[in-house]
Amino acid sequence: MNRMGEYRKPRIGVYICQCGSNIAATVDTEAVAEFASRLDGVVLTRVNKYTCSDPGQATIRKDIQEQKLDRVVIAACTPRMHEPTFRRTLESAGLNPYYLEMTNIREQVSWVHPAGEAATHKAMDLVAAAVERVHLHRALYPRKSPIEPAALVVGAGIAGIQAALDIADAGYQVYLVEREPTIGGKMAQLDKTFPTLDCAT
Ligand SMILES: Cc1cc2nc3c(=O)[nH]c(=O)nc-3n(C[C@H](O)[C@H](O)[C@H](O)COP(=O)(O)OP(=O)(O)OC[C@H]3O[C@@H](n4cnc5c(N)ncnc54)[C@H](O)[C@@H]3O)c2cc1C
Repeated sequence: MNRMGEYRKPRIGVYICQCGSNIAATVDTEAVAEFASRLDGVVLTRVNKYTCSDPGQATIRKDIQEQKLDRVVIAACTPRMHEPTFRRTLESAGLNPYYLEMTNIREQVSWVHPAGEAATHKAMDLVAAAVERVHLHRALYPRKSPIEPAALVVGAGIAGIQAALDIADAGYQVYLVEREPTIGGKMAQLDKTFPTLDCAT
């Protein structure tokens, strides 16, 4: 759906990263790209040596603008590494950054499987799932809401007491709630605790 609520078939670009030989030595990236090119909504596929490099990102920007891509799937390393990088790439090309879906064919495929057909098929499955998922993406916009900089800790056992102290030490107001008449939880019912034999209370 666009912002007017009308359905428009997405134009998805799929980028298969080789990560040097990190992925390419195990996964047949060309076969994955050929497979991806036949998936619903995919209008462009590319195999890059390093998709995260400046030239790799420049290619994505150019494709978004020239090929009118409105969704991008990147099969590469963990999103923990480069999802922010690629979101910025989309944004700099004028596309909402949340029209990106990354799938991890390095840590979840090439680094944990031997080279061969099975690894390539797993990469294909992950790419197919990412393409399905990106169809459902919506543009997201950051917004700010006023919040109360305070915390409520429920339960004043040793865990709750420690959490309350840590939050308070960080400079925030804490409300510690206990349903029993006294705090301390289980620990307060013990005499000495293993292994140090400290006085529990
Ligand atoms: C018999 C026994 C011996 C043990 N011996 C040792 C030992 O030798 N050494 C050691 O390290 N550990 C020992 N333990 C383990 C240790 O006591 C517990 O790991 C520890 O007390 C757990 O702390 P807690 O804060 O997570 O939970 P709890 O101590 O269970 O505290 C939870 C608190 O939350 C409150 N609460 C729960 N729900 C609500 C609610 N909805 N609203 C408000 N308050 C709520 C409860 O009343 C309670 O005060 C022993 C435990 C037992 C039972």
